[in-house]
Amino acid sequence: MLEVMTPQRIVGDCYRIPLGIVNAFVIACPGELTLIDTGLPGEADRIEAALAKLGYSLGDLRNILVTHCHRDHAGSLAELQRRAPQARTFMHQDDAWLVEQGRTIREDRPLRPAPGPLNFLLFHLLLRWGSTEIEPAKVDCRLRGHERLNIAGGITVLHAPGHTRGQACFLWEHEGGVLFAADTACCVFGLTYSVAYEDFELGKRVLANLCRMEFQYACFGHGKTIVRNPRRDFSARFARVRHKRLVPASELATST
Ligand SMILES: [Zn+2]
Ligand SMILES: [Zn+2]
Repeated sequence: MLEVMTPQRIVGDCYRIPLGIVNAFVIACPGELTLIDTGLPGEADRIEAALAKLGYSLGDLRNILVTHCHRDHAGSLAELQRRAPQARTFMHQDDAWLVEQGRTIREDRPLRPAPGPLNFLLFHLLLRWGSTEIEPAKVDCRLRGHERLNIAGGITVLHAPGHTRGQACFLWEHEGGVLFAADTACCVFGLTYSVAYEDFELGKRVLANLCRMEFQYACFGHGKTIVRNPRRDFSARFARVRHKRLVPASELATST
C-alpha cells in the first residue's frame, strides 16, 4: 500500500513532500500550485496523494521547477506531465537537454565523491552503479540563471553549477526568503556537502556565494529543512572557500 506522509509545512503556503531519500516541495498559492522537483521514477502517485492531503489535485498544478537532471529529482517528471498537461516545466538549459533525452549523467562530466570516507562509501553504494536513465520529458521554459520568474508571487533563479552543470536553486521571495538549495549541499546529518559533484571546487564557490544571499529558510533535496537562521549555518560551513593544498616542490619532482 502506498505510504503517504502528510506534507510538512515549512512556512506559509510552502510545504516539504518527503519521498523517501529525496524531497519535493510545493508552494500552494491560491489558484496556482508550484511543484519543485519530482522524486525518483514512480513517485507520481505519492505526490498526487500528498497534494490531496493539502486539498489540491494535479489539476491545480501550474508550474514544475526541476532543480537538476538527476534521477531522484527529474525521475517522475514525464508521468506528472501526463497527469497535469496544463503545467509548465522550468529547468536550467544546461541540464534540460539531458532530461529531454532521458539521460541524467553526462559522460564527459562524471560525478565524483566529495572528500571524506563516508562520501566515498555512499557514492559507491548508492550512486555509482544506479540507473542513469529516466523517461524523457519536455522542458517548456529553459532557464539561464539569475532571471526572476513571475510565478508563486516571485521566484528568483540562481544558477548553481558544481553538482551538475545545469543545477539551479530557487529563491521564493516570501516569508523573508525560502531557498530551495537543491543538491548544492545536504542536511541529512547536519548541513554538509553533497555526496558527489561533477566539479567540487565550483560547487564550493557556489555555496560561498549562497552565503551572501538573504533567506530565512533553506530546503534541500536530501535531508531536513533549516528553519532557524540557515545563513548562520551556511556561513559557518561554507563561507570560506579553502584553496587547494599547495604541493611542495619535493612532491612535484617525484610525481613527474
Ligand atoms: Zn543530484
Ligand atoms: Zn539528489
